[in-house]
Amino acid sequence: MIGICDANNFYVSCERVFNPALNGRPVVVLSNNDRCIIARSNEAKTLGLKMGQPIYQIADVIRANHVVLCSSNFKLYGDMSRRMQTILKRFVPQTEVYSVDEAFLDFRGMDLTKLDELGHTISRTVRHSTGLPVSVGIAPTKTLAKIASKLCKKYPKLNGACYMHRPEDIEKVLRKTPVGDVWGIGGEYEELLLRQGVKTAYDFTQLPPGWVRKRMTVEGLRTWKELRGEPCIEIVAQNPKKKQICNSCSFPSEVSDLEELHTAVATFTTTVAEKLRKQKSVCGELVVFIHTNYFKENAPVSYESLIVRFSVRTDSTLELVAAATDALKAIFRKGFAYKKAGVILSDIAPKAGVQTSIFDTLDRGKHSRLMEALDRINETQGRRTVVVASRGFDPIKMDRQHLSRGFTTDLDDIIRVKTE
Ligand SMILES: [Mg+2]
Repeated sequence: MIGICDANNFYVSCERVFNPALNGRPVVVLSNNDRCIIARSNEAKTLGLKMGQPIYQIADVIRANHVVLCSSNFKLYGDMSRRMQTILKRFVPQTEVYSVDEAFLDFRGMDLTKLDELGHTISRTVRHSTGLPVSVGIAPTKTLAKIASKLCKKYPKLNGACYMHRPEDIEKVLRKTPVGDVWGIGGEYEELLLRQGVKTAYDFTQLPPGWVRKRMTVEGLRTWKELRGEPCIEIVAQNPKKKQICNSCSFPSEVSDLEELHTAVATFTTTVAEKLRKQKSVCGELVVFIHTNYFKENAPVSYESLIVRFSVRTDSTLELVAAATDALKAIFRKGFAYKKAGVILSDIAPKAGVQTSIFDTLDRGKHSRLMEALDRINETQGRRTVVVASRGFDPIKMDRQHLSRGFTTDLDDIIRVKTE
């Protein structure tokens, strides 16, 4: 059996953990610069607020219903996600981190009679330990597990976990599941199926496999088999050791000028980004470090580093250089003579199957094509024929009027509890 643990309304739930006054109220989390909705509480969904909707369009609804606006606090969400994923690892031999708020759980070989209880234990433990409400779905395949976890969200009486395994139960659920809600079926395929009169997941399972294969490729056929209980999509084991790509260098003479340091860091980043694309991978984390000469006596010593987490894993030089620039600006200190600088990419995963997200503002297809062109020119015309112009040093203006604090990541922001 395979499970999935999915946090409900993840970003909103993270905000609520540290601000219980938000419970029961319509809450939305906004994209960078407070522009569009990227997460909604159930109350906000009921008001008809849509994902991706720009808030200027719904100013009236917000005012009339006292909708609470939260700027996105990705540092908080990233840390809460890590906490959730760590807890899940306690319960199963293997997990697959699928997105910031979801992980697949491998229950193979476990006592089938205990899975219902185990699902509920997992759900309760994550809730108690992190404050996050989650939905645990357990079923014979990944695709069915996804459907089971959606059931938990719809039916609170399931108490956050659903073990769906009896064929008759599965059929009953599939008959009620709109075909467009099935994992892997959306957009064009949904339209195609609806035109064929295929309305539910059950209808889809009744189509001839040859037709599915022909019109929806092998991937569609995989989904078809998964819905019929045949596991086709394997759990992808995480590498126990994080793969990393690093580029660093000691300077011939010490550098105390930010511009100069920036050129170095941008160059390192460009190189690691090329290596990343060469191995057809994307990364979720970037670290910039700078340090002074350890061996020089009577000189001020500084070792600084900063990790940047990406909400969507990336291989774009543009995005990576921008992130590295911001990180460098944050750690650079005037008056120090730096001897070494470097950039490390980690949390590396294959590019195929990269998880996108609704709040993603980048046109990733465009970025990909641009990077391909850049790599091709540099390969045929010689390295560094085309390079990315480094970003300027003006502070980046980010409008985040409704930002919550770094409750779990910043000592100054830790919640104080008064006792008498
Ligand atoms: Mg979720």
